[in-house]
Amino acid sequence: MTQHILCGKKSQITFQTFLSGTPARDYVFQQIHYSEQIKQAAKLIKEADYMLIGAGAGLSAAAGLTMGGARFTDNFKDFIEKYGGPYMRDMYSAGFYPFPTEEAKWGYWSKSSMVNRILPGVLPLYQQVYRLAQKKNYFVLTTNVDHQFYLAGFDDKKIFATQGDYGLIQCRRGCHPKTYDATKLFRQMDQAREDCLVPSYMVPKCPVCGEPMEMNLRSDQYFVEDESWHNAERRFGEYLRECEERKTVLLELGVGFNTPTIIRFPFEKLVREHKNMSLIRLNLEEAVIPEAFGVRAMGINEDMVRSIGDLLKEVMHDDTE
Ligand SMILES: [Zn+2]
Repeated sequence: MTQHILCGKKSQITFQTFLSGTPARDYVFQQIHYSEQIKQAAKLIKEADYMLIGAGAGLSAAAGLTMGGARFTDNFKDFIEKYGGPYMRDMYSAGFYPFPTEEAKWGYWSKSSMVNRILPGVLPLYQQVYRLAQKKNYFVLTTNVDHQFYLAGFDDKKIFATQGDYGLIQCRRGCHPKTYDATKLFRQMDQAREDCLVPSYMVPKCPVCGEPMEMNLRSDQYFVEDESWHNAERRFGEYLRECEERKTVLLELGVGFNTPTIIRFPFEKLVREHKNMSLIRLNLEEAVIPEAFGVRAMGINEDMVRSIGDLLKEVMHDDTE
């Protein structure tokens, strides 16, 4: 018997207690027509006072921040030529390349941050998600590290980005619980980079222990959860407590099965345990939902540029009636 996420009125809900590793056993695809799926999902949004958004890599990919294809081969041509091999297939794999020096490591990561975090600006799909959420009491839980929710207008205090940020760096050994904004440094590196390398004097060192720095991306046990991370965790826990008593729609966007324990399974658990909660799952290929949820869940297997656009139209249409 697993513990309920919200059980125990007094206890604080932490990121750890929220996580769940239990997949549903009764996944089904929706059988009704797409336009009817949109109508039913819009109804769930309309009925809700609270909207908890859970967003994964699929949302950013749909918004345009794809990790492979032309975005990779156009922006990383020099890196592909210099390093080649199995790592240089896309930006995800390239991040795991065993760069031989700090100059090489920051040569790559400064470029990656430029392409994914600093240069894109706010993307229209994220702005549409904001329009869906803005009239609700919303909260965002995301594994995305590209900062798009902040850019799209969401309140900083209502975002919990659990896995880090492409614009932040930390001590490689996590010797002190702080992160540092590196966007200015990355712009300078981008200007100075030659042959995929940054000059030695630009390589950042930990101000406390002198060790090399690292991207603030969750990849090992040294990932730094700084003060603002813990504040976001606390606010997220408090928000979940409020949801217990309210009509809440969980809007899950582009969360696949790579790390389903952070958003996908906990969302299902919440809906399973709370009759006042419903689930909308938007996903290009994996929008299966537990059959037992009945009309309290809607999975829409479609490109999110289309489904979010149509959902927004349907919700706005209802608003003007
Ligand atoms: Zn250190």
